[in-house]
Amino acid sequence: MKVEFYKHSLTEEDIAAASEAMRGTFLSSGPKVKEFEEAFAKYLNVKHVLAVNSCTSALHLSMVASHKNWKVSRFNEVITTPLTFAATINAILYAGLKPILVDVNPRTGNIDLNQVESAINGKTHAILPVHLYGNMCNMQLLSKMCSNDGIYLIEDAAHCVEGQVDFTYPGQLGDFACFSFYATKNLTCGEGGAIATNNENSYDYLKLLRTHGMSKSAADRFGKSYAHWDITELGYKYNMTDFQAALLLGQLPRLEAQLARRKEIYLQYISGLAPLGITFTYIPENVRSAHHLFTIHVDPARRDDIIVKLNEAGISVTVNYRPIHTLSYYKEVLPYNVGDFPHAERIGASTISLPFYPLLRSEEVQYVIDTLKRII
Ligand SMILES: *Cc1c(COP(=O)(O)O)cnc(C)c1O
Repeated sequence: MKVEFYKHSLTEEDIAAASEAMRGTFLSSGPKVKEFEEAFAKYLNVKHVLAVNSCTSALHLSMVASHKNWKVSRFNEVITTPLTFAATINAILYAGLKPILVDVNPRTGNIDLNQVESAINGKTHAILPVHLYGNMCNMQLLSKMCSNDGIYLIEDAAHCVEGQVDFTYPGQLGDFACFSFYATKNLTCGEGGAIATNNENSYDYLKLLRTHGMSKSAADRFGKSYAHWDITELGYKYNMTDFQAALLLGQLPRLEAQLARRKEIYLQYISGLAPLGITFTYIPENVRSAHHLFTIHVDPARRDDIIVKLNEAGISVTVNYRPIHTLSYYKEVLPYNVGDFPHAERIGASTISLPFYPLLRSEEVQYVIDTLKRII
């Protein structure tokens, strides 16, 4: 048997909707983008969603928009987790800000809030929690820490379209929540992203930054006689195309059903693997997981060998994540050493992400379980 790591769930209807958009006037951002933004804002119960071309762009724009008024470099620290994808850290670096890493909670893998609190000082500009694997950080506590000190709260919600904590979605308590619609994410258009925000002023500014700081967008200009536009800011080119938005729109009504299927797979994995002594990420009672990734923890001494054996059995897996401070580039540019974040390092050394998506069949899940049983 061959079990892919990921297969998307796009339907013929989704593809027809994208084709339909391509037959229209707007190949770039137009009415479908607007429609998607409104529909996704409704899903998340936030005021505004701004569609962009990746989560990396979303994070970068959030950094720039929030730092606008801090021309002084005193406030240049962004507290975040080492157990994340490079994009989280890169966005901070793109904006000329300084990533301050703190260790994770050993059970959840999410940033440790006690350590966040200790890391806050007079230079803290923002806190950037990552809702790892689709399990939201405690936003209530984080937003309290931030509002006391005028610190921005920017969520990396790349894994967390459907996740909630205490019945709140990403973007409801944070200043900005950044989503990814990359090929393997729960909601996808190949490459894409979005920022959710309840902040009116920031929304207008983000919109400006999304397309070069132009005072009129292409859609605003369409169908009207020519009028001069101006550039009022150094902006970026981070907008989404209409056919991508059309692809995303069709998936929104299926999100809950797909989440329910992933939850079933999650439970099948847990009940099959727990007897083997394999352990899992802890999901707190008040968290509704988006179940984006399914990760297991095995003996670090055997982890890489288990991956090889799974691959030999036709099962594709991956690792989320080897901590940032252990990768070559960040070793060079960040002031951290291996050993600094023991919990993140232990997870990074013991974790394997198994195939996990709605189209995965129960027999395939069982095959993964049986293969792990044989190997371990
Ligand atoms: C996928 C991912 C990103 C980046 O998303 P892109 O849309 O590819 O830019 C950022 N953070 C995390 C945690 C991710 O998994």
